[in-house]
Amino acid sequence: MSMEDLYQEIILDHYRKPKNRAPALDNEDVHVHHSNPLCGDEMDLRVRVVDGNLDAVVFDGEGCSISQASASAMTQAVIGRELKDGLELAEDFRLMMHGDEPSRADDLLDGVAFQGVSKFPVRVKCALLGWMALRDAIETYQSGASAHSVTHDD
Ligand code: ZN
Repeated sequence: MSMEDLYQEIILDHYRKPKNRAPALDNEDVHVHHSNPLCGDEMDLRVRVVDGNLDAVVFDGEGCSISQASASAMTQAVIGRELKDGLELAEDFRLMMHGDEPSRADDLLDGVAFQGVSKFPVRVKCALLGWMALRDAIETYQSGASAHSVTHDD
C-alpha cells in the first residue's frame, strides 16, 4: 500500500467514523461557526477549557469528506493540549496546507494524512475549515467572548 493510499484510507475512516462529533457539549466555553461557501461546508466547533487546556473539543457539520474528516482528525490532535499548543498546531497545519513540511508532524497525528490536499488549492479551504475554527475558538475564548461566526469567502 502506498503512502497516498494509506492517507486516503485514514481520511475516509475519519469521514465514515468521525471522532468527537457532537451537536452539543456540556459546559462549553466557546462555540464558533465557520462556513466555506466555495464548497458548501459548514462547521460548528465547541470547546471546553479546563485549567488552560483544551479539555473537550467537538465538531458538528456538513459538507465534503475532506472538511469533515479533517475536523475529526483535528480534535484528536488537540484535545488535552494547552491553548497555546493548539494554536501552534493549527498554524503548523495551515503552513502544511500551503506546501510546507509540517514541523510537528508527530503531534498532528492523522492530520498529516491531509498533506496531499495541499496540491489541490480548491480543497485546501475544506481541510483548513476545522483547524481555522479551532484557532478562532481559542482566540475568541482568550478575548473573553463565547461565540463567533465566520464565513470564509475570500
Ligand atoms: Zn469542502
